[in-house]
Amino acid sequence: MPFYAPEWVPKLPFDVPDSISIDRFILDENFDRHPLGYSRPPFTCGLTGKEYSALEVKERVDFLARGLSRELGFLPNQGSEWEKVVGLFSINTIDTLTLAWATHRIGGIQTPANAAYTVQELEHQLRDSGAKCLFTCLPLLDLALQAAKTVGIPDSRIYLLDVPESLAGKKRDGYKTLDQLIGEGQKLARLEELKWSKGEGARRTAFLCYSSGTSGLPKGVMISHKNVIANVLQMRAFEDPWRKTLIQPGNQSDYTENVLGLLPLNHIYALIVVAHLGAYRGDGVIILPKFEFKSFLETIQTYKISNLYLVPPIIITITKSRDVVKQYDLSSVNSIFTGAAPLGEETAEDLQSMFPGWAIRQGYGMTESATVVCSTIPSDVYFGSSGSLLPGIEARIVTPEGEEVTKYDTPGELWVKGPAITLGYLNNQKATGETFVDGYLRTGDEAVVRKHPKSGHEHIFIVDRLKELIKVNGLQVAPAELEAHLLTHPAVNDCVVIGVPSDREGEVPKAFIVKSPSVGLEESDKMVARDIARHVEQHKAKHKWLKGGIEFIDIVPKSPSGKILRRLLRDKEKEKRRS
Ligand code: ATP
Ligand code: MG
Repeated sequence: MPFYAPEWVPKLPFDVPDSISIDRFILDENFDRHPLGYSRPPFTCGLTGKEYSALEVKERVDFLARGLSRELGFLPNQGSEWEKVVGLFSINTIDTLTLAWATHRIGGIQTPANAAYTVQELEHQLRDSGAKCLFTCLPLLDLALQAAKTVGIPDSRIYLLDVPESLAGKKRDGYKTLDQLIGEGQKLARLEELKWSKGEGARRTAFLCYSSGTSGLPKGVMISHKNVIANVLQMRAFEDPWRKTLIQPGNQSDYTENVLGLLPLNHIYALIVVAHLGAYRGDGVIILPKFEFKSFLETIQTYKISNLYLVPPIIITITKSRDVVKQYDLSSVNSIFTGAAPLGEETAEDLQSMFPGWAIRQGYGMTESATVVCSTIPSDVYFGSSGSLLPGIEARIVTPEGEEVTKYDTPGELWVKGPAITLGYLNNQKATGETFVDGYLRTGDEAVVRKHPKSGHEHIFIVDRLKELIKVNGLQVAPAELEAHLLTHPAVNDCVVIGVPSDREGEVPKAFIVKSPSVGLEESDKMVARDIARHVEQHKAKHKWLKGGIEFIDIVPKSPSGKILRRLLRDKEKEKRRS
């Protein structure tokens, strides 16, 4: 028996539209008909205060589409979307979505790249996606130029997005800006509307997002217009009941809020959940181009942000910096949402003790599921859980032997089906065939279903990636569980656990630890390590003990979307053992 959304989750209010492009769905179907007339500007820069109202966003998308169409020779109803791939390599800006939606209006695909990429990594994405042009920003221009040159994108096809002056550096001539294209578009005639047949929105790729590359080379995931619209509708339906409890006296229809737009908009989580869902719902997304702890706290205070979209490393920074956090007024916050990587129960408890009033929510998803599969809601929080399934999603838990798990607390691989499951990987039939099976997405993550002890609702717990599990004498150890526990030790600021080979046990866990600044100089590494090892031995079963040892490091390698890049340490360890 598969698992479905619990009864309290509202069904989708209507069939997911499959013949309309994302820009039209968000901007017309919604901006025009929104009961509030959009009281909040959809996008505001947290650093400069520059904002665009809903009307301005609509106009800018329209004019930019005209300008782009003339500049690149892309016409809405001519050619396949694969001939109109627009690359993006930029930090977050208040125009990031303007560009995406204008690209959709001319029937093109946007492929957003990770702003932390090296030249080679960017080259891979540009080449693989077949991008015809590249939008970037001044701080990343040199790197973008190098990658573009190698893959044959000429300088005349490089464009600049506007970023706050404090980050821009020296002005550079010779590159058209997004604002110039908008200015040109303003003088041009209206574009022809996209003429799509029934179901075309389900087949046409809108975004080509690359997976985070946690387990290997990032894969290009083809995300259709319908996939994005589906996840926005699923999340909205799922969250509406409790969002309505936020209604302020005097305005019964207003349950919008200011949300934090700090996470990288190239990654599926922020792209869909923060930007698209926020815009669809009428929230004000406060954009921050980069994470800097004090400006992050200041922005929450200044813009009275009530919902923070975060990832575990930021939460760990908060819980390990109580003294700094105390200096800011964060009383506007009522909930936080975390995803992309596991948030340990212990860290959640720590955060809750700092902010008893915050609803600490977790969601789980992948690029391949065009984001959220399941999530917790404030009235049903269960630390460590990734929550309940969204409406329209069917989940199975399958053992390595291929048997379907129907019992609680029994682990297996999570398989999911639903309207946001994407079209597959670009240029990779083998991986597509292995991952997308009979309409199901095989997530590669191990999960268990547990009943909430109070509400009795079914919750999905993600144990870890199947490939990351450490096998000690045939028993399974999830690095995520040990990492969560290690973080509760006062000497541990951050950490990562991997499996290392052992003659007797096959594999054993080894921890890499970033020491907390509070550790005194007089304490030797040996003493600290012994204390940390004891902390595990006192609380965890013997096969989970750190028999592979403890090594101190300066920083844990992580992706900008908050994932521990365990493979980097694994590679280093292999090299060390070889030499
Ligand atoms: P790649 O597929 O290239 O190796 P990736 O899987 O990290 O990279 P994403 O699509 O960005 O790329 O991330 C999806 C993965 O993130 C999931 O498969 C899961 O392992 C992990 N993940 C996401 N949310 C959670 C969560 N709440 N708890 C635990 N893991 C999570
Ligand atoms: Mg993956």
